[in-house]
Amino acid sequence: MTTPKNNFTDERANHGVRGVTILGSTGSIGINTLDVLARHSDRYRIMALTANTQVERLFEQCQKYLPPKAVMLDPHSAIRLKEKVRKSGIAVEVLSGIEGLNTVATHLRTHIVVAAIVGAAGLIPTLAAVRAKKRVLLANKEPLVMSGHIFINEARASGAELIPVDSEHNAIFQCMPIGYTTGAAPATVKRIFLTCSGGPFRTFPTEALVSVTPEQACAHPKWVMGPKISVDSATLMNKGLELIEACWLFGVTPDQVEIVIHPQSVVHSMVEYVDGSVLAQLSNPDMRTPIAHALAWPERIESGVKSLDPFELARLDFERPDLNRFPCLRLAYEAARAGGTTPAILNAANEVAVQAFLDRRIGFTDIPRVIEYTLKNLPANRDNQLGTVLSDDVHAREMAGKYVTERLSHMSQGVT
Ligand code: NAD
Ligand code: MG
Repeated sequence: MTTPKNNFTDERANHGVRGVTILGSTGSIGINTLDVLARHSDRYRIMALTANTQVERLFEQCQKYLPPKAVMLDPHSAIRLKEKVRKSGIAVEVLSGIEGLNTVATHLRTHIVVAAIVGAAGLIPTLAAVRAKKRVLLANKEPLVMSGHIFINEARASGAELIPVDSEHNAIFQCMPIGYTTGAAPATVKRIFLTCSGGPFRTFPTEALVSVTPEQACAHPKWVMGPKISVDSATLMNKGLELIEACWLFGVTPDQVEIVIHPQSVVHSMVEYVDGSVLAQLSNPDMRTPIAHALAWPERIESGVKSLDPFELARLDFERPDLNRFPCLRLAYEAARAGGTTPAILNAANEVAVQAFLDRRIGFTDIPRVIEYTLKNLPANRDNQLGTVLSDDVHAREMAGKYVTERLSHMSQGVT
Protein backbone atom coordinates (compact mmCIF):
# COMPACT_ATOMS: atom_id res chain seq x y z
CA MET A 1 0.00 0.00 0.00
CA THR A 2 1.12 3.49 -0.60
CA THR A 3 0.32 4.39 2.30
CA PRO A 4 -0.70 3.89 5.67
CA LYS A 5 -4.27 2.71 5.70
CA ASN A 6 -6.21 1.67 8.74
CA ASN A 7 -7.02 -1.81 7.41
CA PHE A 8 -3.45 -2.88 8.14
CA THR A 9 -2.99 -6.58 8.72
CA ASP A 10 -0.38 -7.60 11.24
CA GLU A 11 2.44 -8.81 8.98
CA ARG A 12 4.05 -10.58 11.89
CA ALA A 13 1.17 -13.05 11.69
CA ASN A 14 2.21 -13.82 8.10
CA HIS A 15 5.95 -13.43 8.18
CA GLY A 16 6.89 -13.76 11.83
CA VAL A 17 9.62 -11.47 13.10
CA ARG A 18 10.19 -8.43 10.84
CA GLY A 19 13.62 -7.77 9.31
CA VAL A 20 15.00 -4.25 9.77
CA THR A 21 17.79 -2.52 7.86
CA ILE A 22 19.17 0.77 9.18
CA LEU A 23 20.75 3.05 6.57
CA GLY A 24 23.04 5.25 8.69
CA SER A 25 23.10 3.12 11.86
CA THR A 26 26.09 4.93 13.42
CA GLY A 27 24.35 8.33 13.55
CA SER A 28 22.01 9.83 16.10
CA ILE A 29 18.81 8.37 14.57
CA GLY A 30 20.53 5.04 13.89
CA ILE A 31 21.64 4.70 17.52
CA ASN A 32 18.18 5.64 18.84
CA THR A 33 16.63 3.06 16.51
CA LEU A 34 18.98 0.34 17.78
CA ASP A 35 17.98 1.25 21.33
CA VAL A 36 14.28 0.73 20.52
CA LEU A 37 14.92 -2.47 18.54
CA ALA A 38 16.97 -3.96 21.41
CA ARG A 39 13.84 -3.70 23.60
CA HIS A 40 11.86 -5.82 21.12
CA SER A 41 14.09 -8.62 19.87
CA ASP A 42 10.96 -10.84 19.81
CA ARG A 43 9.45 -8.63 17.07
CA TYR A 44 12.41 -7.38 15.02
CA ARG A 45 15.55 -8.91 13.55
CA ILE A 46 18.35 -6.57 12.44
CA MET A 47 19.24 -7.54 8.85
CA ALA A 48 21.82 -4.88 7.95
CA LEU A 49 23.62 -1.88 9.41
CA THR A 50 25.38 0.79 7.35
CA ALA A 51 27.70 3.78 7.73
CA ASN A 52 29.89 6.05 5.67
CA THR A 53 33.38 5.98 7.27
CA GLN A 54 32.83 5.21 10.98
CA VAL A 55 34.60 1.83 11.02
CA GLU A 56 35.03 1.49 14.80
CA ARG A 57 31.43 2.32 15.60
CA LEU A 58 30.00 0.06 12.91
CA PHE A 59 32.30 -2.77 14.03
CA GLU A 60 31.06 -2.38 17.63
CA GLN A 61 27.47 -2.48 16.37
CA CYS A 62 28.24 -5.61 14.31
CA GLN A 63 29.66 -7.33 17.40
CA LYS A 64 26.67 -6.37 19.50
CA TYR A 65 23.79 -6.98 17.02
CA LEU A 66 25.30 -9.55 14.61
CA PRO A 67 23.50 -8.36 11.46
CA PRO A 68 23.94 -10.75 8.50
CA LYS A 69 25.24 -7.79 6.44
CA ALA A 70 27.06 -4.50 7.06
CA VAL A 71 27.79 -1.81 4.46
CA MET A 72 30.33 0.99 4.42
CA LEU A 73 29.82 3.53 1.66
CA ASP A 74 33.53 4.30 1.61
CA PRO A 75 35.45 1.37 0.02
CA HIS A 76 38.61 1.92 2.12
CA SER A 77 36.55 1.85 5.31
CA ALA A 78 34.86 -1.33 4.04
CA ILE A 79 38.25 -3.03 3.66
CA ARG A 80 39.15 -2.05 7.23
CA LEU A 81 35.80 -3.29 8.57
CA LYS A 82 36.13 -6.57 6.63
CA GLU A 83 39.52 -7.18 8.25
CA LYS A 84 38.19 -6.51 11.74
CA VAL A 85 35.19 -8.79 11.14
CA ARG A 86 37.46 -11.56 9.84
CA LYS A 87 39.79 -11.33 12.84
CA SER A 88 36.91 -11.36 15.32
CA GLY A 89 35.29 -14.38 13.66
CA ILE A 90 31.74 -12.94 13.65
CA ALA A 91 29.48 -13.96 10.75
CA VAL A 92 28.86 -10.58 9.10
CA GLU A 93 29.20 -10.08 5.35
CA VAL A 94 30.71 -6.65 4.59
CA LEU A 95 29.62 -4.83 1.43
CA SER A 96 30.58 -1.39 0.14
CA GLY A 97 29.50 1.52 -2.03
CA ILE A 98 26.09 2.59 -3.23
CA GLU A 99 25.52 -0.93 -4.66
CA GLY A 100 25.99 -2.33 -1.15
CA LEU A 101 23.46 0.17 0.26
CA ASN A 102 20.97 -0.67 -2.51
CA THR A 103 21.41 -4.40 -1.87
CA VAL A 104 20.54 -4.17 1.82
CA ALA A 105 17.76 -1.61 1.22
CA THR A 106 15.96 -4.01 -1.12
CA HIS A 107 16.85 -7.38 0.41
CA LEU A 108 13.98 -9.86 0.45
CA ARG A 109 14.18 -10.59 4.16
CA THR A 110 14.09 -6.90 5.06
CA HIS A 111 10.58 -5.58 5.74
CA ILE A 112 11.50 -2.24 7.29
CA VAL A 113 14.17 0.20 6.09
CA VAL A 114 15.10 3.04 8.41
CA ALA A 115 16.32 5.97 6.26
CA ALA A 116 18.77 7.64 8.66
CA ILE A 117 21.58 8.77 6.34
CA VAL A 118 22.21 12.51 6.50
CA GLY A 119 21.75 14.70 3.42
CA ALA A 120 21.07 14.05 -0.25
CA ALA A 121 23.34 10.97 -0.05
CA GLY A 122 20.37 8.98 1.26
CA LEU A 123 18.24 9.56 -1.85
CA ILE A 124 19.24 6.58 -4.01
CA PRO A 125 19.11 3.76 -1.40
CA THR A 126 15.92 5.16 0.17
CA LEU A 127 14.25 5.32 -3.24
CA ALA A 128 15.43 1.74 -3.89
CA ALA A 129 13.68 0.68 -0.66
CA VAL A 130 10.48 2.45 -1.73
CA ARG A 131 10.56 0.75 -5.13
CA ALA A 132 11.08 -2.61 -3.38
CA LYS A 133 7.83 -2.10 -1.40
CA LYS A 134 9.37 -1.81 2.04
CA ARG A 135 8.00 0.02 5.04
CA VAL A 136 10.32 3.04 4.92
CA LEU A 137 10.84 5.01 8.12
CA LEU A 138 11.78 8.47 6.87
CA ALA A 139 14.17 10.41 9.07
CA ASN A 140 16.41 11.53 6.18
CA LYS A 141 14.48 14.64 5.11
CA GLU A 142 16.80 16.05 2.41
CA PRO A 143 15.78 13.55 -0.34
CA LEU A 144 12.12 14.40 0.35
CA VAL A 145 12.86 18.10 0.04
CA MET A 146 14.56 17.45 -3.30
CA SER A 147 12.01 15.09 -4.76
CA GLY A 148 9.13 14.35 -2.41
CA HIS A 149 6.70 13.91 -5.30
CA ILE A 150 8.88 11.10 -6.69
CA PHE A 151 8.85 9.31 -3.33
CA ILE A 152 5.07 9.63 -3.04
CA ASN A 153 4.46 8.48 -6.63
CA GLU A 154 6.90 5.56 -6.39
CA ALA A 155 5.30 4.46 -3.11
CA ARG A 156 1.87 4.56 -4.75
CA ALA A 157 3.19 2.44 -7.63
CA SER A 158 4.99 -0.15 -5.49
CA GLY A 159 2.75 -0.27 -2.44
CA ALA A 160 5.54 0.80 -0.09
CA GLU A 161 4.61 2.42 3.22
CA LEU A 162 6.19 5.81 3.94
CA ILE A 163 6.12 6.56 7.66
CA PRO A 164 7.64 9.83 8.86
CA VAL A 165 10.11 9.68 11.75
CA ASP A 166 10.98 13.38 11.83
CA SER A 167 9.23 14.18 15.13
CA GLU A 168 6.98 16.92 13.72
CA HIS A 169 5.86 14.89 10.72
CA ASN A 170 5.35 11.82 12.83
CA ALA A 171 3.18 13.98 15.12
CA ILE A 172 1.17 15.26 12.13
CA PHE A 173 0.81 11.69 10.86
CA GLN A 174 -0.53 10.68 14.28
CA CYS A 175 -3.08 13.53 14.08
CA MET A 176 -4.33 12.57 10.61
CA PRO A 177 -7.77 10.95 10.32
CA ILE A 178 -8.47 7.24 9.91
CA GLY A 179 -8.09 6.20 6.26
CA TYR A 180 -5.58 8.96 5.53
CA THR A 181 -3.41 8.37 2.45
CA THR A 182 0.19 9.60 2.29
CA GLY A 183 0.57 12.74 0.17
CA ALA A 184 -3.13 13.55 0.31
CA ALA A 185 -4.49 15.04 3.50
CA PRO A 186 -8.30 15.24 3.26
CA ALA A 187 -9.99 18.56 2.50
CA THR A 188 -11.18 18.63 6.12
CA VAL A 189 -7.59 19.44 7.17
CA LYS A 190 -7.42 23.23 7.25
CA ARG A 191 -3.92 23.99 8.56
CA ILE A 192 -0.83 22.35 9.95
CA PHE A 193 1.04 23.98 12.83
CA LEU A 194 4.66 22.89 12.49
CA THR A 195 6.36 23.45 15.82
CA CYS A 196 9.96 24.55 16.20
CA SER A 197 12.08 24.84 19.35
CA GLY A 198 13.69 28.02 18.02
CA GLY A 199 17.16 26.46 18.27
CA PRO A 200 20.09 27.59 20.41
CA PHE A 201 19.96 31.22 19.20
CA ARG A 202 16.27 31.99 19.76
CA THR A 203 17.07 34.72 22.29
CA PHE A 204 20.67 35.43 21.21
CA PRO A 205 21.47 39.07 20.26
CA THR A 206 21.16 39.31 16.45
CA GLU A 207 24.44 41.22 16.11
CA ALA A 208 26.31 38.42 17.95
CA LEU A 209 25.17 35.75 15.44
CA VAL A 210 27.99 36.73 13.08
CA SER A 211 30.64 35.24 15.38
CA VAL A 212 28.98 32.09 16.73
CA THR A 213 31.10 28.92 16.53
CA PRO A 214 30.14 25.43 15.29
CA GLU A 215 30.26 24.26 18.94
CA GLN A 216 27.68 26.90 19.96
CA ALA A 217 25.52 26.12 16.93
CA CYS A 218 25.56 22.37 17.69
CA ALA A 219 24.57 22.81 21.36
CA HIS A 220 20.82 22.39 20.85
CA PRO A 221 18.74 23.16 23.94
CA LYS A 222 16.33 20.20 23.54
CA TRP A 223 17.68 17.54 21.15
CA VAL A 224 21.02 15.75 20.74
CA MET A 225 21.49 15.28 16.98
CA GLY A 226 24.12 14.93 14.25
CA PRO A 227 26.14 18.07 13.35
CA LYS A 228 24.36 18.91 10.08
CA ILE A 229 20.82 18.94 11.47
CA SER A 230 22.09 20.75 14.59
CA VAL A 231 23.39 23.63 12.45
CA ASP A 232 20.16 23.55 10.42
CA SER A 233 18.24 23.87 13.69
CA ALA A 234 20.35 26.89 14.66
CA THR A 235 19.74 28.70 11.32
CA LEU A 236 16.09 27.47 11.30
CA MET A 237 16.76 25.95 7.87
CA ASN A 238 15.75 22.68 9.51
CA LYS A 239 12.24 24.09 9.88
CA GLY A 240 12.36 25.34 6.29
CA LEU A 241 13.29 21.86 5.05
CA GLU A 242 10.52 20.44 7.26
CA LEU A 243 8.01 22.86 5.72
CA ILE A 244 8.79 21.42 2.27
CA GLU A 245 8.82 17.89 3.68
CA ALA A 246 5.34 18.49 5.16
CA CYS A 247 3.98 19.81 1.85
CA TRP A 248 5.00 16.60 0.07
CA LEU A 249 4.10 14.14 2.81
CA PHE A 250 0.67 15.58 3.53
CA GLY A 251 -0.23 17.12 0.15
CA VAL A 252 -0.73 20.64 1.51
CA THR A 253 0.40 24.05 0.21
CA PRO A 254 3.13 26.11 1.95
CA ASP A 255 0.44 28.60 2.96
CA GLN A 256 -1.41 25.88 4.85
CA VAL A 257 1.66 25.30 7.04
CA GLU A 258 2.14 27.71 9.93
CA ILE A 259 5.51 27.56 11.67
CA VAL A 260 5.19 28.08 15.41
CA ILE A 261 8.09 28.59 17.80
CA HIS A 262 7.48 26.40 20.84
CA PRO A 263 10.57 26.46 23.07
CA GLN A 264 9.51 23.61 25.38
CA SER A 265 9.46 21.07 22.46
CA VAL A 266 6.64 19.09 24.02
CA VAL A 267 3.95 19.70 21.39
CA HIS A 268 5.52 18.14 18.29
CA SER A 269 3.01 19.65 15.83
CA MET A 270 -0.73 20.17 15.44
CA VAL A 271 -3.42 19.69 12.78
CA GLU A 272 -6.41 22.02 12.53
CA TYR A 273 -9.66 20.71 11.02
CA VAL A 274 -12.46 22.67 9.35
CA ASP A 275 -14.71 22.20 12.39
CA GLY A 276 -12.24 24.16 14.56
CA SER A 277 -10.72 21.09 16.27
CA VAL A 278 -6.95 21.17 16.69
CA LEU A 279 -5.24 17.82 17.36
CA ALA A 280 -1.72 17.74 18.77
CA GLN A 281 0.76 15.03 19.70
CA LEU A 282 2.75 15.59 22.88
CA SER A 283 5.68 13.75 24.39
CA ASN A 284 9.02 14.40 25.98
CA PRO A 285 11.54 15.40 23.29
CA ASP A 286 13.14 12.01 22.56
CA MET A 287 13.39 10.55 19.03
CA ARG A 288 12.67 7.06 20.36
CA THR A 289 8.96 7.97 20.51
CA PRO A 290 8.50 8.63 16.76
CA ILE A 291 10.88 5.76 15.92
CA ALA A 292 8.90 3.27 18.04
CA HIS A 293 5.64 4.60 16.62
CA ALA A 294 6.80 4.22 13.02
CA LEU A 295 8.26 0.75 13.61
CA ALA A 296 5.12 -0.67 15.18
CA TRP A 297 2.33 1.37 13.54
CA PRO A 298 -0.61 0.80 13.80
CA GLU A 299 0.33 -0.97 17.01
CA ARG A 300 2.26 0.68 19.84
CA ILE A 301 5.41 -0.56 21.53
CA GLU A 302 7.38 0.60 24.55
CA SER A 303 10.19 3.01 23.57
CA GLY A 304 12.13 3.65 26.78
CA VAL A 305 11.03 7.31 26.76
CA LYS A 306 10.30 8.95 30.10
CA SER A 307 6.60 9.60 30.76
CA LEU A 308 5.44 13.15 30.19
CA ASP A 309 4.47 14.69 33.51
CA PRO A 310 1.85 17.41 32.90
CA PHE A 311 2.40 18.73 36.43
CA GLU A 312 6.06 19.41 35.63
CA LEU A 313 5.09 21.51 32.59
CA ALA A 314 4.75 24.96 34.05
CA ARG A 315 3.61 26.38 30.69
CA LEU A 316 3.56 25.87 26.92
CA ASP A 317 4.63 28.92 24.91
CA PHE A 318 3.96 29.62 21.23
CA GLU A 319 5.56 32.49 19.25
CA ARG A 320 5.82 33.62 15.64
CA PRO A 321 9.23 33.08 13.97
CA ASP A 322 11.28 36.12 12.95
CA LEU A 323 12.03 35.69 9.23
CA ASN A 324 14.43 38.67 9.20
CA ARG A 325 16.54 37.27 12.01
CA PHE A 326 16.51 33.79 10.45
CA PRO A 327 16.66 34.38 6.65
CA CYS A 328 17.00 30.63 5.94
CA LEU A 329 13.37 30.20 6.88
CA ARG A 330 12.32 32.94 4.45
CA LEU A 331 14.41 31.34 1.68
CA ALA A 332 12.78 27.96 2.33
CA TYR A 333 9.27 29.46 2.16
CA GLU A 334 10.20 31.09 -1.17
CA ALA A 335 11.64 27.82 -2.50
CA ALA A 336 8.56 25.88 -1.40
CA ARG A 337 6.31 28.33 -3.26
CA ALA A 338 8.55 28.37 -6.36
CA GLY A 339 8.50 24.55 -6.72
CA GLY A 340 10.29 22.77 -9.61
CA THR A 341 13.93 22.13 -8.75
CA THR A 342 14.16 25.20 -6.46
CA PRO A 343 13.90 23.14 -3.24
CA ALA A 344 16.69 20.84 -4.53
CA ILE A 345 18.90 23.89 -5.22
CA LEU A 346 18.11 25.30 -1.76
CA ASN A 347 18.99 21.96 -0.16
CA ALA A 348 22.26 21.48 -2.07
CA ALA A 349 23.48 25.03 -1.36
CA ASN A 350 22.57 24.59 2.29
CA GLU A 351 24.53 21.30 2.54
CA VAL A 352 27.61 23.00 1.06
CA ALA A 353 27.26 26.07 3.32
CA VAL A 354 26.70 24.04 6.50
CA GLN A 355 29.76 21.88 5.80
CA ALA A 356 31.84 25.01 5.14
CA PHE A 357 30.63 26.48 8.44
CA LEU A 358 31.43 23.23 10.32
CA ASP A 359 34.89 23.30 8.69
CA ARG A 360 35.27 26.93 9.92
CA ARG A 361 35.63 28.20 6.36
CA ILE A 362 32.68 30.61 6.61
CA GLY A 363 30.77 32.30 9.41
CA PHE A 364 27.30 31.44 10.68
CA THR A 365 25.61 34.39 8.97
CA ASP A 366 27.32 33.47 5.68
CA ILE A 367 25.15 30.34 5.47
CA PRO A 368 22.00 32.15 4.18
CA ARG A 369 24.23 34.29 1.90
CA VAL A 370 25.60 31.21 0.12
CA ILE A 371 22.08 29.83 -0.30
CA GLU A 372 20.56 33.09 -1.51
CA TYR A 373 23.42 33.63 -3.97
CA THR A 374 22.94 30.13 -5.42
CA LEU A 375 19.16 30.49 -5.65
CA LYS A 376 19.52 33.85 -7.44
CA ASN A 377 22.17 32.72 -9.91
CA LEU A 378 21.14 29.19 -10.84
CA PRO A 379 17.93 29.11 -12.86
CA ALA A 380 15.65 26.38 -11.54
CA ASN A 381 13.88 23.89 -13.79
CA ARG A 382 10.10 23.58 -13.81
CA ASP A 383 10.58 19.92 -14.74
CA ASN A 384 11.36 18.10 -11.52
CA GLN A 385 11.93 14.56 -12.76
CA LEU A 386 14.69 12.66 -10.96
CA GLY A 387 17.40 13.28 -13.59
CA THR A 388 16.76 17.02 -13.57
CA VAL A 389 16.71 17.15 -9.78
CA LEU A 390 20.02 15.29 -9.54
CA SER A 391 21.71 17.46 -12.17
CA ASP A 392 20.51 20.70 -10.51
CA ASP A 393 21.78 19.31 -7.20
CA VAL A 394 25.26 18.95 -8.77
CA HIS A 395 25.15 22.42 -10.37
CA ALA A 396 24.01 24.03 -7.11
CA ARG A 397 26.84 22.35 -5.17
CA GLU A 398 29.36 23.63 -7.72
CA MET A 399 28.02 27.16 -7.60
CA ALA A 400 27.74 27.27 -3.80
CA GLY A 401 31.24 25.76 -3.45
CA LYS A 402 32.69 28.38 -5.76
CA TYR A 403 31.00 31.17 -3.81
CA VAL A 404 32.38 29.77 -0.54
CA THR A 405 35.90 29.67 -1.97
CA GLU A 406 35.60 33.18 -3.35
CA ARG A 407 34.33 34.46 -0.01
CA LEU A 408 37.21 32.76 1.69
CA SER A 409 39.73 34.41 -0.58
CA HIS A 410 38.05 37.77 0.20
CA MET A 411 38.20 36.98 3.91
CA SER A 412 41.88 36.09 3.74
CA GLN A 413 42.44 39.57 2.29
CA GLY A 414 40.62 41.02 5.25
CA VAL A 415 37.41 41.80 3.36
CA THR A 416 34.31 40.21 4.83
P1 NAD B 1 24.26 11.80 11.86
O1 NAD B 1 25.25 12.69 11.23
O2 NAD B 1 24.29 11.61 13.34
O3 NAD B 1 24.34 10.34 11.18
C1 NAD B 1 24.37 10.18 9.78
C2 NAD B 1 24.52 8.71 9.40
O4 NAD B 1 24.59 8.65 7.96
C3 NAD B 1 25.80 8.05 9.92
O5 NAD B 1 25.55 6.70 10.17
C4 NAD B 1 26.79 8.21 8.76
O6 NAD B 1 27.79 7.20 8.74
C5 NAD B 1 25.83 8.04 7.56
N1 NAD B 1 26.31 8.79 6.39
C6 NAD B 1 26.80 10.06 6.36
N2 NAD B 1 27.11 10.41 5.10
C7 NAD B 1 26.83 9.34 4.33
C8 NAD B 1 26.95 9.07 2.92
N3 NAD B 1 27.44 9.99 2.07
N4 NAD B 1 26.52 7.87 2.46
C9 NAD B 1 26.07 6.91 3.30
N5 NAD B 1 25.94 7.10 4.65
C10 NAD B 1 26.31 8.30 5.14
O7 NAD B 1 22.81 12.32 11.42
P2 NAD B 1 21.41 12.25 12.22
O8 NAD B 1 21.31 13.37 13.15
O9 NAD B 1 21.18 10.86 12.71
O10 NAD B 1 20.39 12.57 11.04
C11 NAD B 1 20.10 11.64 10.02
C12 NAD B 1 18.94 12.15 9.19
O11 NAD B 1 17.77 12.17 10.02
C13 NAD B 1 19.13 13.58 8.68
O12 NAD B 1 18.57 13.70 7.40
C14 NAD B 1 18.36 14.43 9.67
O13 NAD B 1 17.85 15.61 9.10
C15 NAD B 1 17.21 13.49 10.04
N6 NAD B 1 16.67 13.72 11.39
C16 NAD B 1 17.46 13.60 12.47
C17 NAD B 1 16.95 13.83 13.74
C18 NAD B 1 17.80 13.66 14.98
O14 NAD B 1 17.28 13.75 16.09
N7 NAD B 1 19.08 13.39 14.85
C19 NAD B 1 15.61 14.21 13.89
C20 NAD B 1 14.82 14.32 12.74
C21 NAD B 1 15.35 14.07 11.49
MG1 MG C 1 12.18 17.63 13.13
